[in-house]
Parts: sequence; C-alpha cells; structure tokens
Amino acid sequence: MIIVLKPNVDTDSREFRRIESHVNNFQNIEILVHNIQGKQQLLTELYLIGNTAALSIDEIKSFPGVEHVIRVSEVYRVLGRHKGDSRPSHFTYNGVTFSQDNLNVFAGLCAVDSPESVEAMMKALQENGQVCTRMGAYKPRTSPYSFQGHGAACLPYVFDLAGKYGIKVIAMEVTHESHVDEISAALRSTGSPTGVMLQIGTRNTQNFELLKSVGRQQEFPVLLKRGFGITLDESLHAAEYLASEGNQKVIFGLRGMKTNIGDPHRNLVDFAHVPVVKNLTRMPVCIDPSHSVGGRFRSSDRILDIMHITAQGVVAGANMVLVDFHPDPSKALVDGPQALRLDELPLFLEDVRIVRRAYEQRVELYDAASAI
Ligand code: PEP
Ligand code: MN
Repeated sequence: MIIVLKPNVDTDSREFRRIESHVNNFQNIEILVHNIQGKQQLLTELYLIGNTAALSIDEIKSFPGVEHVIRVSEVYRVLGRHKGDSRPSHFTYNGVTFSQDNLNVFAGLCAVDSPESVEAMMKALQENGQVCTRMGAYKPRTSPYSFQGHGAACLPYVFDLAGKYGIKVIAMEVTHESHVDEISAALRSTGSPTGVMLQIGTRNTQNFELLKSVGRQQEFPVLLKRGFGITLDESLHAAEYLASEGNQKVIFGLRGMKTNIGDPHRNLVDFAHVPVVKNLTRMPVCIDPSHSVGGRFRSSDRILDIMHITAQGVVAGANMVLVDFHPDPSKALVDGPQALRLDELPLFLEDVRIVRRAYEQRVELYDAASAI
C-alpha cells in the first residue's frame, strides 16, 4: 500500500505521527518513506510493506494530511501503475519535461572521440532546435583492446560545449558508481552549463549494486536500457531497483534483443513493447533504433531501416528516441556503421515529427470513439 501525503506534509508533522501510530497497531507492517523534492514542494510517499491486507483504505484516506491511498500489487511497487493510481508519469529535469505524453529526441555521438566531433554535433543540434543529446564518455566494449571512451578527461569540454550550444540534457552511460561522482564534479567545476541523464547500458541492466548506488542519488535522472537477453519483467524489476532506492526519475529504454533471429539487424527490434511498458508502469519509454538495427540498411523505398524502425516506435507512442549520429561515421571510434550523418539530421527530425503527429491523430481517433 502507498500513502501519498499532501504536499509539504513530511515525517516531522503531527499528521505523519498519527498515521504511524495507527499503522503500528498492526503487526508486521513496515513503513518506508520516500521524499520527492520538487521545485516548489516536498512530496512524501509512505510505502507500507508487509501484511497490509488488514488495513482499511477508507480509514487511512480519512486521516488528515493524506492526499490519496493506493493498494499496490506485488510487482513494480514504486514505478508500476496500480488500480486507482494517479501518481505522475512525468518529471522535469533542467527545464526539459520527460513524460508518457511527450517526445524528446536525443541525437548524438555514441562515443565522444574529439572536441571537434562534439562541437560539430552540438552545433547541428542547435541549428535544428534540439536541446538534448547523447555523448558516451565511458564505453563498455566487448574487447578490452577496443577504445574504452575518454572517460572523465572529456567531460569538461563536453559540458562547456553543451553550454555554448544550449544543450540542456546529455544522456551518458555510466558503468561504475565512481563515474557518477566524476560527472557531478565536472559539472560543478564547469559551472553546470548543462544537465546529464545517467544511462545504464544493456550489459549492466542487472548490475544490482550499480543500480542501487545510481538509485540512491537524486541529482540525475536515469535511462535504464532493457537487458538484451532477459525477460521484460526482469528488466522492469531492474528499474524498480533504482526507484526503491529513492530515484523515481527513470526512463525505460528498448534497444533490441540479442538473437540471430533478427538478422541482418544487430538485434531483434522490440518496439512492440512501447505500449506494454507504458501500460505496466509510469515510466516514459525510450527507443534506441541505432543499437537495434546496427547498420545503414536501406529498403527499396530508399528509407533507412533506422528511420523505419524509429517510426515503428514513435507511432506506438515512444517518449524518447536515442539515436547515433557522427560528423564522419567512417572515422567514428565506436559504432560508426550505424551512425547517421549530420546532413541527415533535419530529415530524421522531420520524419519523427510526421510520425509523432500520426500517433497523436491515432490517440484523438480512439478518444473520439470512446466518447461515443
Ligand atoms: C549505447 O547506447 O551506447 C549502448 C552501449 O547501448 P546498449 O547498452 O543498449 O548496448
Ligand atoms: Mn554504441
């Protein structure tokens, strides 16, 4: 059971103590407190764990200070959608809103290779009205002999250039908790010209200690990529690790499943799960067409598979697109074959706009039909 307290009613209040002493009359119920600090107000949620069947929802609703009460199913307690659940499915970070009802594009470098590539990318983004990007500094690679990313060394120039070109959020993978501290320190030392969304990659979806430490911090939102060889349920539980430690600013990323059934694509595209995740949870859903498709395949209609597959996710209501670009893909140090060129950015964005409009028209169609 989740008890959502009225804004600014916290655990020091008389209202909280009354609820606590009521719950303490029952055996085997533990109260976990989640504080969500918004810009203007503090929201406190109480997670009651244990034998809550004995509690009456109506009685708890009648306590002063209680906004609403939700009886949760066992799965996805924090991020799940439960019956009568009116908790939000959106958050705002550094001025950008992430929601199950909108769409943000994160076009950028799979891996930062040089200041020149970063600047060319960010300039193109600004020229095309974009405020989000992806920039990998810590790259998990299959071979220890491959380029591992520039790590902390590139952060100052990445952040400075982001400030110069009006970039507000950079998706950046972390593979160790020390990377979060390095990012935080580099942001401070450059005067916080931008924001960072921490990315947990598909190889780390079930790295529970990493999830717990990234979940404990609330400075940065998190993009959790689905594990490439585990069930959707297992990946959603991984997201729950972040939230149960306190960070509910989580976006769930679909990036394809590893199997040769998807050949010639790098992974089997799994964007049919966009509506499934939106139905089961309150997380905005991201699609990564680049790591799903893995190459510049082009069909007889002259449209790249990366664009076709982006369209599949967006027309199903995806909320974020993470996509690889590079000023010169032949020179990219990581994943060049799947990178789009900067001159393809306007085309890509226009295609996304067309398909997003189609999704909105579909929603309007079904809204009108249900009003009859
Ligand atoms: C990436 O986005 O750079 C990446 C490595 O993705 P994934 O973890 O999905 O393979
Ligand atoms: Mn990559």
